[in-house]
Amino acid sequence: MKHNFGAGPGILPHEVLKQAAASVVDLNGIGLSILEISHRSVEFEAILDEAIKLVKELLNVPEGYSVLFLQGGASTQFALAPYNLLPEGGKAAYLETGVWANKALKEAKFFGETMVVATSKESNFNYIPKDYVIPTDAAYFHTTSNNTIYGTQLHEFPKSPIPVVCDMSSDIFSRTINVADFGLIYAGAQKNMGPAGTTLVIIKDDLLGKTGRKIPAMFNYQTQIEGGSMYNTPPCFAIYVSMLTLKWLKSKGGVPAIEKENDTKAAILYSEIERNPLFKTVCAKEDRSKMNVCFVTENPEHEKPFLKLCDEKGIVGIKGHRSVGGFRASIYNALPITSVHVLIEAMQEFAEKNK
Ligand SMILES: *Cc1c(COP(=O)(O)O)cnc(C)c1O
Repeated sequence: MKHNFGAGPGILPHEVLKQAAASVVDLNGIGLSILEISHRSVEFEAILDEAIKLVKELLNVPEGYSVLFLQGGASTQFALAPYNLLPEGGKAAYLETGVWANKALKEAKFFGETMVVATSKESNFNYIPKDYVIPTDAAYFHTTSNNTIYGTQLHEFPKSPIPVVCDMSSDIFSRTINVADFGLIYAGAQKNMGPAGTTLVIIKDDLLGKTGRKIPAMFNYQTQIEGGSMYNTPPCFAIYVSMLTLKWLKSKGGVPAIEKENDTKAAILYSEIERNPLFKTVCAKEDRSKMNVCFVTENPEHEKPFLKLCDEKGIVGIKGHRSVGGFRASIYNALPITSVHVLIEAMQEFAEKNK
């Protein structure tokens, strides 16, 4: 078994993979594969219902919100959020905390006026801007809860006078959130919820239908709500594996239990990086991500040999994003703490060898 620190598609629980593999051949003993049943079958409808129920339960989704499983990834939501929420002639506000936030901002420009409330671009996004004022005349305030590439995270969400839209692709289900603080939450499944191919959307119903614009059916949240995520054929397998992953999370004690584990995993890894003379972190301490731990070697010449050592130890997916360099250990929900221990031991061994 490898120690999978990849940033996405990321690690899934081993028991989920085993069950998913069995269901590709025969789903629950019905003599048919999950890949070949109708999305209108009782079996699939039960899977989708269960997936939605688990999302509502695990995140305590209040009344007045709809839960959707869509396609197109988080990147499609960059456009669908303004398409559905930004009125003709209106304005949208963005917090620019990285490449993903910037891509979301670019898409909003197709639909109306945008403003960047604050940015950390000048320092390659290694911190989260804090002292800013959210305009009251914008339709929404867009944030990215965890910046997968840079290893920063919003540990506190701003109190906002306008609805908050949040891209939670890389930390959904990793920590307790208050859904009522958000107007729209979206997340591509492949970081912390399931395989690539489906995107979770949680939308506050009463924000819809106010743009004055006609929206094609597939891009219209209202159509998707009315169709129960089945306006067209949904990504059945991705939803199925997401459902299994959420069930696994529930069996572990849900979000509060995994949050505790995630806190421990992040704390021991950051503490080794701080202690180890060969490595250093790259982000402002108070904004460090508990999902994507970015770090570099003090000596650039140590980078390749450390990667080689990782490879020998079965540690994979740890090379940093090209725009940051160095290393990025993604420690998503499904990554066992034992894998973090293996990485820490590799760092210690490396320091010992390079004294
Ligand atoms: C990976 C990622 C995306 C892009 O997701 P796709 O599903 O590939 O479109 C967007 N936002 C964040 C924060 C991400 O980590």
